[in-house]
Amino acid sequence: MATIEFDGRKYSLAEQESVLDALLRNGVKAAHSCKAGSCGSCMMRATHGDLPDKAQAGLKDSWKAQKYFLSCVCRPEADLGVTKVGVDAQLGATITFLELLSPDVLRVRLRCDGDISFRAGQYVTIVQDCGLARSYSIANLPDEGELELHVRRIAAGKMSGWFHEEARVGDRVSVLGPSGECFYVPGSPEQPLLLAGTGTGLAPLYGILRDALRHGHRGPIHLFHGALHTGGLYLVDELRRLAGVHEHVEYTPAVLNGERSDAMEVGSIDQVVLNRFPKLSGWRGYVCGDPTLVQMLKKKLFLCGMASRDIYADAFLPAAQTS
Ligand SMILES: Cc1cc2nc3c(=O)[nH]c(=O)nc-3n(C[C@H](O)[C@H](O)[C@H](O)COP(=O)(O)OP(=O)(O)OC[C@H]3O[C@@H](n4cnc5c(N)ncnc54)[C@H](O)[C@@H]3O)c2cc1C
Repeated sequence: MATIEFDGRKYSLAEQESVLDALLRNGVKAAHSCKAGSCGSCMMRATHGDLPDKAQAGLKDSWKAQKYFLSCVCRPEADLGVTKVGVDAQLGATITFLELLSPDVLRVRLRCDGDISFRAGQYVTIVQDCGLARSYSIANLPDEGELELHVRRIAAGKMSGWFHEEARVGDRVSVLGPSGECFYVPGSPEQPLLLAGTGTGLAPLYGILRDALRHGHRGPIHLFHGALHTGGLYLVDELRRLAGVHEHVEYTPAVLNGERSDAMEVGSIDQVVLNRFPKLSGWRGYVCGDPTLVQMLKKKLFLCGMASRDIYADAFLPAAQTS
């Protein structure tokens, strides 16, 4: 049975147990969130021993070379020495701006202490001193100098509750990342783009939309934003303004409960999208937000002819219950 060595002590791994789970089982405090190899908050560094490939999947080459790995998906077959990541993997950041975009969505701007290279639509993981870590998508463009996040208030949510109730301009957090492949890739400027999401799934889509425009995308860009009711929509005026200025941009807000009008569709976002565009061969799609919706829409877009290599998605998986 493999052991892990951490902080001068050895811990045996149960069969198929991850490094993170073994540490938590033994009472070690280790930052983590999604427990699915996605958010990056459980990153550690190996001091000796071999890492399974899966433990480093998706990490930057420079991090792989330094033996950084994701402890939640690391199931080593032989003994491994591990240590918590140093400050080199995390950046300190200061909250510079807070604004409610709707009763439940807070715009948060952060200035990082050092350079952070990102693409609009990727996500960062915010880590508090106590180790609480949650991922949030980046809604703005890199040249704006800061990170913009849209944080939805979740009932009894630890991180979103902190942002909504306690965070003040000047407060400090740590930032890990960026991660994620859901961003605009230049190179096919005529390709029609479909952007669809619910709730704060709009955050990455808003960034991707502006990034595509900045790169001179000429093909049609259709943005669908869904919410339960009109109060759940946000940035409506700004998105209408963008659609007004750019002829090839169309913005469709959709609510599950409400009155249909020229400016608003009623129905689930997948129905609204597919009623409008039943054939999507040759399109590129971006789908973000609620994990069930993301999974379902990915499948439906594919069935309507969109190639799977053209479907980019970010599912906002909630943190595992232990964190
Ligand atoms: C890649 C990625 C990108 C993300 N981007 C964003 C983003 O841009 N904006 C954003 O607001 N969130 C985003 N999230 C979700 C975010 O990371 C947190 O999960 C969310 O803010 C809740 O954290 P919390 O600490 O407030 O709640 P927790 O303390 O983790 O949860 C409190 C309770 O609420 C439940 N819960 C958690 N999430 C939800 C939910 N969505 N709906 C209903 N119940 C829930 C939990 O199961 C728990 O019972 C993203 C997640 C991922 C993985």
